[in-house]
Amino acid sequence: MNASPGNESPLRLVIHGASGRMGQALLRLAPEFPSMQVVAAVVRRTPSPRVVDGVPYFASTELASLPPFDVAIDFSLPQGFDAILALCAQRGAALVSGTTGLSDAQRGALDEAAVRSPLLWAANFSLGVAVLNDLVERAAAMLPGWDCDIVEAHHTRKLDAPSGTALALGESAGRGGASPHYASLRAGDIVGEHLVQFTGIGERIELAHRASNRDIFARGALHVATRLCGKAPGSYRVADLLG
Ligand code: NAD
Repeated sequence: MNASPGNESPLRLVIHGASGRMGQALLRLAPEFPSMQVVAAVVRRTPSPRVVDGVPYFASTELASLPPFDVAIDFSLPQGFDAILALCAQRGAALVSGTTGLSDAQRGALDEAAVRSPLLWAANFSLGVAVLNDLVERAAAMLPGWDCDIVEAHHTRKLDAPSGTALALGESAGRGGASPHYASLRAGDIVGEHLVQFTGIGERIELAHRASNRDIFARGALHVATRLCGKAPGSYRVADLLG
């Protein structure tokens, strides 16, 4: 791998799920990170044309043919996740994944693969949600006995519910002692909104995050990808790699 400061060769990046909303954002924003170079884009079906803006495209059935790479960023769907995880583990490459709706078995496979590669899975790559998780855990700890409800809203084409971010916020609330309930809205083109509400007798606290642009997730994933390369195998969190 090739991550030492001042090294002239850029890190070789694969974008997996490249034709999706997040994949397109990643490809558009990758040039903002000159320490990395996109060496392959992976889409579900056989691509045509095979090269776009100098980036070679591969079908998901052609993963074995990918050129050497240092890190893959995966924003696909659960059915695409296993293959890119296995490839990264096999090649000892780093993996940053934001794919949500993973099964317990897939989360287990992620832990197992961390023996061979540096891996980071996160339900959300925005700085605001990282802060919100911290606030929610603290609020839950300070409000024993209050009801905790998490309401999330996303665009109509989102497949999983509750969102991965809502579940992660629920885990934060749980660490503070709360037992959250969830509600999901699917409407229009909403990028992602999360409200965590603590309700007592006669009073209520609302903690909310609203994403108006999915570029924040793409930039966050690209940023942590630069930091993950060269790390020892293991499971990393966004908070480990910020700064
Ligand atoms: P999308 O539906 O627009 O794109 C999904 C892409 O995955 C498509 O291009 C599809 O062709 C591809 N795909 C499907 N099956 C595949 C397979 N077997 N192999 C390879 N590729 C395959 O979805 P999106 O809005 O881009 O989101 C993608 C994922 O990222 C979803 O799980 C979503 O919930 C998640 N997401 C996470 C964050 C975050 O910050 N963690 C932010 C936004 C979206």
